[in-house]
Amino acid sequence: MPEAVFQLKCSCNQYEWGNQGSKSISARLCSKTPGWDKDEQGKLTDFEIDENKVYAEMWFGTYPVLPTYVKSTGEDLQDLLDKHPEELVGKSLQKKFGHTKLPYLPKVLSISKALPLQLHPNKNKAAELHKRDPEQFGDSNHKPEIAIALSKFEAFCGFKPLEKIHSLLQLEPLQSFLPQPKPTTFTNATLKHVVHTILSASKSAIYDAFTGLSALSRSSFGSDTYIKDLIPRLAAQYPTTDPGIVVALITMNYLVLSPGEALYIPADGIHAYLAGDIIECMARSDNVLNTGFCPRPSRNSVDEFVEVLTFDPHDPQGAMLTPKPHEKAKLGKTMVYRPPLSEFDVAATELAKGEQEGLAAMEGPGIFVVVKGEGKMKAAGREEHVGEGSVWFVAPGVETEFEAGNGGLQMFTAYAE
Ligand SMILES: [Zn+2]
Repeated sequence: MPEAVFQLKCSCNQYEWGNQGSKSISARLCSKTPGWDKDEQGKLTDFEIDENKVYAEMWFGTYPVLPTYVKSTGEDLQDLLDKHPEELVGKSLQKKFGHTKLPYLPKVLSISKALPLQLHPNKNKAAELHKRDPEQFGDSNHKPEIAIALSKFEAFCGFKPLEKIHSLLQLEPLQSFLPQPKPTTFTNATLKHVVHTILSASKSAIYDAFTGLSALSRSSFGSDTYIKDLIPRLAAQYPTTDPGIVVALITMNYLVLSPGEALYIPADGIHAYLAGDIIECMARSDNVLNTGFCPRPSRNSVDEFVEVLTFDPHDPQGAMLTPKPHEKAKLGKTMVYRPPLSEFDVAATELAKGEQEGLAAMEGPGIFVVVKGEGKMKAAGREEHVGEGSVWFVAPGVETEFEAGNGGLQMFTAYAE
């Protein structure tokens, strides 16, 4: 019989948009847990922060690109789940998904500059891409995702309302991206055309538009005066010939979230995170189509990107995911983020010094990470210390109780049932 609750070893990747060394929360959490790394020969070693490297994402799932191991045995977590599906995955998930893989992939991201302008294709498109190019598209699943702010978090997400985009496109430097003859009504189809035109424009056309926009006064942008402030910031991060800058500033919602606020990105939803620390959770997939904020050779086909693009949400409020009190929480100190999909929910527990919480058993497996503070956990007849950065697996049917230590306790649990 496997243990019902056990600690995990996780690791961190080094995408170039991450934060430097110990400035990255992902690296700091990873260094406090018995994390793993690979040395130059590809051998597993302990995780240690290298201040010369940037660290972007700490992963807790069982996706093979960055697996999670059981701390006590070093076994790959997915191998253990495959051996004990009844006890560790549970009946309801196996019935729902027809496999014993964890359906979700939780991460901690630490972002210093814009991530590629991207979307994650729906299941049909993902299956087609995976068949055509399994190297680049490693699975056939969709990847809707949520992002919960741990700090101030800035993101471009979904499209602005159509009338707003239409009016910004009247600005002189952007007129060349409008269809000819100029449309009198501006619809999603017009927007699709405009996005396609910008993404496939020549370097010099983007450079001209960018230079033109930079020269405009703050009031030219109507109520979106933030555009004036973001122009130099984005230009410091990416070449001014990158079409992502124009698409993000002119057509997309710009959101600034406070800790605890969250975004939901549906399949095919356009997004580009800009700065901050977040908990991210997504369906088990790594598929992405990138078209901006990345070098030209790593951009995917604009035709394919625009073909699947969804136009929902169409305003900033539509992008937000509001947490609700968690019905499994016995002492009311836990909120739950519940996106409209079956692969996962994320529960957020926050306790001040000495406070307690109990979480009722779930039908499926959960994984939690302590992002701040420490405390005690009672589960399956044992008591464990849960420190900052530690990551734990909780089997289906297991109730957990927590008590915060002196510095309080903040943790996030991804689960599905
Ligand atoms: Zn994404």
